[in-house]
Amino acid sequence: MKKTALVLTAGALLATVAAGCGDKKEDTKQGTAASPAASTAPAASTAPAAGKQANIGVAIYKFDDTFMTGVRNAISDAAKDKAKVDIVDSQNSQPTQNDKVDLFISKKVNAMAINPVDRAAAGVIINKAKTANIPVVFLNREPLPDDMKKWDKVFYVGAKAEESGTISGQLLVDHWKAHPEMDKNKDGVMQYVMLKGEPGHQDAELRTKFSVQAIEAAGIKVQKLAEDTAMWDRVKGQEKMAAFLAANGDKIEAVLANNDDMALGAIEALKAAGYFKGDKTMPVVGVDATAPALKALSDGTMLGTVLNDAKNQGKATFAIANVLAQGQTPTKENTGYDITDKQYVWIKYKKITKENANEAQ
Ligand code: BGC
Ligand code: CA
Repeated sequence: MKKTALVLTAGALLATVAAGCGDKKEDTKQGTAASPAASTAPAASTAPAAGKQANIGVAIYKFDDTFMTGVRNAISDAAKDKAKVDIVDSQNSQPTQNDKVDLFISKKVNAMAINPVDRAAAGVIINKAKTANIPVVFLNREPLPDDMKKWDKVFYVGAKAEESGTISGQLLVDHWKAHPEMDKNKDGVMQYVMLKGEPGHQDAELRTKFSVQAIEAAGIKVQKLAEDTAMWDRVKGQEKMAAFLAANGDKIEAVLANNDDMALGAIEALKAAGYFKGDKTMPVVGVDATAPALKALSDGTMLGTVLNDAKNQGKATFAIANVLAQGQTPTKENTGYDITDKQYVWIKYKKITKENANEAQ
């Protein structure tokens, strides 16, 4: 594996959150070493000269991620004619991302937008940004609350992970109620398998937890047959689902995946095992509502997904970063987005099935 960062277990994540501190790793420690900016006094103003467009440095955790590609494209679309954005690939490595941040700082960008590789490393980035007086907007991977409190020119744009979990659970509840045959062994219990995203990522931990909670809250008993991480990845999703099928076969009654890529991988494995032919079917739910997932909804292989609004996440990230780059304070008026607790923009999720797939396009 390319990186060592962000392989926290759920327990470790919770412990980290509870302790209010990031875990100490070799790769993030280097961030405290003298950077070009650390040796100079904070600049009086980060704003570009009057009438000039701002320079905004954007680092994405890795370009090879379907959902983040949508967000990345939305950022460049939103920036057209408004600012110069330099979008770079952190290649799923926190040390690489820290180097990119150092470069942005030495180029004196007016603001940064960072999609951390390891959310626990945000604190180091905030320290660097604050020293250089360059505002920073984090996106998609939420920094720990104590890190967010380090500076008032730090923002986060994302979506409430709990909400997406609850909606994906509700998709299965709706199906269970409308299709009693989903309970294949007629024991009144929903036997499910879970494909989890990257451990430690708030979306992986909370979607996993809240999806199952939503099913139980509807009065349906559940039994977990298997759970494993497929790291947000389609190919890994296919491999893990093939393993789940080999171990549990026809006992599986539902497949929950923390994102669409893993759900689509699971569908491939199910197809290879003879599903989606005749009346052999399987309810599979994902999150994101990517283009290939919408196609699977219309084909009838994916039961439902949750719109993770890449377009508005990208637009909001740019809007906040650009206002900060101009030396102003982001407000609803100058960004178009509600700002919660002075530092957060929350973009809503939405339940998507075949019936309303057009609303996700
Ligand atoms: C998305 C995943 C994506 C991940 C990247 C999540 O919000 O649902 O598809 O891989 O973010 O951090
Ligand atoms: Ca059952």
